Amino acid sequence: MINFDYIRTFTTKAAVDAKVKSASSQFIAGGTNLVDLMKKGVTSPDKLIDINGLPLKQITADAKGILIGALALNSEVAENAIIKTKYPLLAAALNAGASPQLRNMATVGGNMMQRTRCSYFYDITMPCNKREPGSGCGALQGQNRMHAIFGTSEKCIAVHPSDMCVALAALDASVHISGPKGDRKILFTDFHRLSGDTPELDNNLQKGELITGIHIPANAFNKTHYLKIRDRASYAFALVSVAAALEISGNTINNAKLAMGGVAHKPWRLTAVEKFLTGKPANKETFTAAANMAMEGANTFGQNNFKIKMGKAAVTEALQQAAQKI
Ligand code: SF4
Repeated sequence: MINFDYIRTFTTKAAVDAKVKSASSQFIAGGTNLVDLMKKGVTSPDKLIDINGLPLKQITADAKGILIGALALNSEVAENAIIKTKYPLLAAALNAGASPQLRNMATVGGNMMQRTRCSYFYDITMPCNKREPGSGCGALQGQNRMHAIFGTSEKCIAVHPSDMCVALAALDASVHISGPKGDRKILFTDFHRLSGDTPELDNNLQKGELITGIHIPANAFNKTHYLKIRDRASYAFALVSVAAALEISGNTINNAKLAMGGVAHKPWRLTAVEKFLTGKPANKETFTAAANMAMEGANTFGQNNFKIKMGKAAVTEALQQAAQKI
């Protein structure tokens, strides 16, 4: 690890100003990913801007939805009474991520900013276009069991590792951002990027911008489920995950939201499948057809061929489990 400066900030403006002044600086909150990246030499900021003193920990709800401050801890959000009762999909996704110790340190904003767990990205002796643009992609012909099957490019086939973000994508959340040009909001599904020709960019934040919060609109989903398939029961990233939110009355699906994790460079929203599900009966036949549709266009790379079969099974199971919820 190289030497770096460290400053603490107590207002959003001071944090943004400090970031603008120093091109290679980085914000730090829980540090659960950033410190690992620095130890391994994957990233070497010349300055860390500690934002833990900013007033961004609040969770406030009204009739329109809920606003979660970017510095709210993953564990606090998962245990929040309103989240548990009105947005249980988010609580379930958060509790499926990492370990209790990490959830007690990691913030919502940091969860969104975490970087891929592709092993070539973390090994600075190996080629990786995300870490060093133009150096190549070790995973394309190498270890790619965990890698993407949707939206890949010849430059990078990494996946975004978050569980929380899959639920937020399904719930039509939006991201509140502050930057040198003022405040703005973007749809959560527009925050993360596909790898394309610029795999070094994980998201659409502009220079100096800071995530200040996440807003989830109120909804009428009465059946939700987060399904995560992984190598261990805890502290493992998803091979495939599915966030399913359904509004069912009688046996008819009136509204559906669906997103997958572990399959793309960003949370993978399934809008065509959602349209297909709307108005259909909530039964095995519908869910199987939806799962087949969900995997259309998948592209595999050898070791991750199994993800197509697993993805179909996961979508079917997540929808079934959601529909069975009381
Ligand atoms: Fe790097 Fe992406 Fe290739 Fe992994 S998949 S080695 S992160 S370029």
